[in-house]
Amino acid sequence: MNSPLPSGATIGILGGGQLGRMLSVAAARLGFKTHVFEPGSDAPAGHVAQTVTTAAYDDAGALERFAQSVSVVTYEFENIPTEALDIIEKTVPIRPGREALRVSQDRLTEKNFLQDLGLQVAPYAEVSDMGSLEQAIAKTGIPAILKTRRFGYDGKGQARLSSADDATGALSDMAGQPAVLEGFVNFSHEVSVIAARSALGEVACFDPGENVHRDGILHTTTVPARLSSAQRTDAVLLAARILNALDYVGVMGVELFVTPQGLIVNEIAPRVHNSGHWTQNGCAVDQFEQHIRAVAGWPLGDGTRHSDVVMENLIGDDMDKVPALAREAGAALHLYGKSETKKGRKMGHVNRVTG
Ligand code: AMP
Repeated sequence: MNSPLPSGATIGILGGGQLGRMLSVAAARLGFKTHVFEPGSDAPAGHVAQTVTTAAYDDAGALERFAQSVSVVTYEFENIPTEALDIIEKTVPIRPGREALRVSQDRLTEKNFLQDLGLQVAPYAEVSDMGSLEQAIAKTGIPAILKTRRFGYDGKGQARLSSADDATGALSDMAGQPAVLEGFVNFSHEVSVIAARSALGEVACFDPGENVHRDGILHTTTVPARLSSAQRTDAVLLAARILNALDYVGVMGVELFVTPQGLIVNEIAPRVHNSGHWTQNGCAVDQFEQHIRAVAGWPLGDGTRHSDVVMENLIGDDMDKVPALAREAGAALHLYGKSETKKGRKMGHVNRVTG
C-alpha cells in the first residue's frame, strides 16, 4: 500500500472498545468505512462502524474474511495474538507495523529498546524467581515495583515493594508470570506525549499533557502541562526518536516521568491513548483523525493546540454526573455507549475547555 487510500475505502480495526469507537468516528468524518473485529458482543465501536465481526482472535477463517474486506488494518490495543497478526498480514498491511507491537507487548523488550536508543528509563531487571528477584533488588534498590512483562494495563499486574520483606508476597502476586522489577522513580509529575508519524516519515507531536492517576487509572489530563521549554523540546525529540527507530506509522502514546534529572520514559503504547482524548476539543485535528490519516497514507493534519483543556475520565459511577455535565458550560461530553456500568470501567470522558 504505497498510495493514499481514497475516501470511501474500508479500514479494519482490531478491538471494539472506546478507542476503536472514536477511531471509527474519525474515519467516518474523512469518508472512510470501518470494519471492527472484536470477540465481545455489543462492542462500543460496533455501534458506529459499517461492519462488525464478532469472533475470537484464534478464528482463522473470520480473520481471513476480515482481512479480505479491508484495505489496511489498525488496532486499538497492543496485546493482539501474534498468530492473528500473521494471518491478517498475508492479505493486508497492518499499521502501526509489527515491530512496534513486538516491542511494546513485553515490558522487558520495551525497556531494552528504549535504553538502547539512549533514553532514560527507571533502573530495571528481569525477574523469573526468588533468586533473580533478590539480584534485581540489588540493582534497582527499594522501593521498587514488580510488574508482569506482559498484559499489564491500568496498574494491573503490579506489586509494590516497600521493603525487602515484601519480596515473597510480590512474587506470588505475579502467579509465576515472567516479570520486571523497576526502581521507584521519584517524579514530580507525570506527562505524556501523543506523537504521530506518517507513512512518508513526517512526525508531529501534540502538546504534552499532564496526567493524574487514581487507583492506577488515568483520572485527568491537563494541557498545557507544567514543563519548561527545554523539557517540552526534550519530550518531543525523544518521542520522534522512538517513532523513527520503529519506522512507525500512526499515533503513539509516550508516558514520561518528570524528574530533576530529566524526563524518564515509563512506557509506550502503539495506539491512540487515553491521555490524548483532550485533543478532540483542543486541536483542529485530534489524535483519532491523525491516526486514521497516518494509517491511510494521508499527510498528517494540524494538531496545534488552540485551547487549554482538562480531560476527566468518567469511570463507573461517575456516569451519575452526566446530567449535570450535560448542562455545564464549556464541557464537551464523550460517552462510549457501554450498556453496563461497572466499578473501574471507563464509561466516557469530559473535556473542559478552560482557556
Ligand atoms: P504503568 O502501568 O507502568 O504505566 O504504571 C502505572 C502507574 O504506576 C504510573 O503511571 C505511575 O504513576 C506508577 N509507576 C509505574 N512505574 C513506576 C516507577 N518505576 N516509579 C514510580 N511510579 C511508577
